[in-house]
Amino acid sequence: MMALRFSIFIFTISLCFIFDFQAISAQRDDEDVTIKTMEEFSGYPIHEPIYPNSLSSLSVNSDSLQKQIDELATFSDSPAPSVTRILYSEKDVLARRYIKNLMELSGLSVREDAVGNIFGRWNGYEPELAPVLTGSHIDAIPYSGKYDGVVGVLGAIEAINVLKRSGFKPKRSLEVIMFTSEEPTRFGISCLGSRLLAGSVQLAELLKKTVDGQNISFSEAAKFAGYGNAKGDLSEVFLKKGSYSAFVELHIEQGPILEKEGTSIGVVTAIAAPASIKVTFEGNGGHAGAALMPERNDAGLAAAELALAVEKHVLESGSIDTVGTVGILKLHPGAINSIPSMAHLEIDTRDIDESRRNLVIEKIHQSALAIAKKRKVILSEFEIVNQDPPALSDESITKATELACQELNLTHKRMISRAYHDSLFMARISPMDMIFIPCYKGYSHKPEEFSSVGDIANGVKVLALTLAKLSLS
Ligand SMILES: [Zn+2]
Repeated sequence: MMALRFSIFIFTISLCFIFDFQAISAQRDDEDVTIKTMEEFSGYPIHEPIYPNSLSSLSVNSDSLQKQIDELATFSDSPAPSVTRILYSEKDVLARRYIKNLMELSGLSVREDAVGNIFGRWNGYEPELAPVLTGSHIDAIPYSGKYDGVVGVLGAIEAINVLKRSGFKPKRSLEVIMFTSEEPTRFGISCLGSRLLAGSVQLAELLKKTVDGQNISFSEAAKFAGYGNAKGDLSEVFLKKGSYSAFVELHIEQGPILEKEGTSIGVVTAIAAPASIKVTFEGNGGHAGAALMPERNDAGLAAAELALAVEKHVLESGSIDTVGTVGILKLHPGAINSIPSMAHLEIDTRDIDESRRNLVIEKIHQSALAIAKKRKVILSEFEIVNQDPPALSDESITKATELACQELNLTHKRMISRAYHDSLFMARISPMDMIFIPCYKGYSHKPEEFSSVGDIANGVKVLALTLAKLSLS
């Protein structure tokens, strides 16, 4: 008991020291019983410099956190160890109830919006200031794992518990969010909740007529889960810019770098944004035996040439951050003895440099035109489906996170996120940053997805300390 008290005492003192609590405590001398007690107990003022490593006493309840991760994974439509949790399904509703319950157990006041973004607030002592927000998603694509997104939601709730146990009092309110539908599984729209929060009028309109594979409308599905609103007007979900002073998302890396290098924490400086393009070539088709080679207008070969051109243009950028993929290639009529009369490709290209990525798109377009001309096929479709700008992290949040790592004696490195997350859209309305933790071999979106208890605890500690700093800023 004594040791526990002492470690909480040391931690509280060091928090006070780090955040220059002297100035803050002056404003609220009377209300802060914790600090008074600490001073009486210690016999000297709390702002005295303390041991630099005392923050390592920040205690994450790893057993309970791992238990929650395992329990949440049981709300699944596929057998363990895989997890399948689709938006507004029965299992999704149960998982949502589980999250709301945990938020309430942590003393957070819970609210939900019309699409089911769930918020849990811990009021600060200056509640009129814009709060600090943290969180991620818990929906899971079919046959995926139990850590993607989940670590950022359950970890955020645990980070609040860590701060509460330490005796910390937030100045700005701290909020945890669980975003609705980061994965596009059911309605083909990724980051549905955060896109709406960021004020996408286009999406709010689109959702009025969106249906899933079973022809169930978005609003019917939302209603099943207890969401939606009478007028079907989703603009009430939009948040004003500045509603939050900062947003931080804790997430597994979904890549191999941290694990390979033995680095504890990745501090994300930018999120690459994808652009996607649909292309269709139309030729003449014909009999694979009878039509002579010089007479052919093979749409399939045009598509094949364009796929290679995508690779060439991406590599020409000279940056490792530029990537391009032809993930869909369909030939019509799709018979071994028939020359393809039509070919359809879908291309994904990403970069953290928007102009460099847009240059790649332009080169792909020029190649498509040139190939069509050379092969005497028609380029009947070249549609840029989306072309989101990349998001840059806010330097002050990045610095706060790096400082947290240093204070916790955790190795860290700056990195970019090539996968995109809800943070990409939150960056449109709030300064943003992400914290990555290592995951086994970089696996994600499959049952083998795994992060160790220790790595998760490190992420939660860094998140807790970052939130504390941001709350006082
Ligand atoms: Zn995720």
